[in-house]
Amino acid sequence: MKKVGLAQSVGPLAFALFCPANSHSRGTRGLSLDSLAQVTSGKQPDCIFCDAASRKDDENTLIVHRGQKVFVILNRYPYTTAHAMIVPYAHVAELNLASPEALDEMMRLAQRLESIYKSAYRPDGMNIGMNLGKAAGAGVAGHIHLHVLPRWFGDANFMSVVGETRLHPEELSTTFKTLSTALKQSM
Ligand SMILES: [Zn+2]
Repeated sequence: MKKVGLAQSVGPLAFALFCPANSHSRGTRGLSLDSLAQVTSGKQPDCIFCDAASRKDDENTLIVHRGQKVFVILNRYPYTTAHAMIVPYAHVAELNLASPEALDEMMRLAQRLESIYKSAYRPDGMNIGMNLGKAAGAGVAGHIHLHVLPRWFGDANFMSVVGETRLHPEELSTTFKTLSTALKQSM
């Protein structure tokens, strides 16, 4: 009962963000974190989020904030500049399995990112959403994560239609500094 209609309920967002036809280039398959794992380590770890959280190397794993129950990590292949994901430390595949504390912290962090994006990036809009399961477009289906990203009129969708020319997001190291600093300040 809980799974019925899920794909439909996140459908428009999933299509907007994670449809392969719209995925971001850079010689990768868009937002696939699975392929990222293969690229970076040569062998796929069990879970890229658990792996990143367990390392104490936030600058390289792109973790911009560590909270009590969740952490914030940048998407290495961002759909737009400052594409972040809020992820519980607990490896759970369903929203129903996440603790109330993790869900609460997740939404509060989404709120903080909303404010940070507004002041640091002045976007025209934002996507905040979750894809549960491969059929819904999840790159890492076993570990839930909330995508949060600023959007601008005419960003990647338009450019992908035009051809090879794409809007390049800012350097990840720049985004890392901006978001990690802002998240510390807005505590
Ligand atoms: Zn995991």
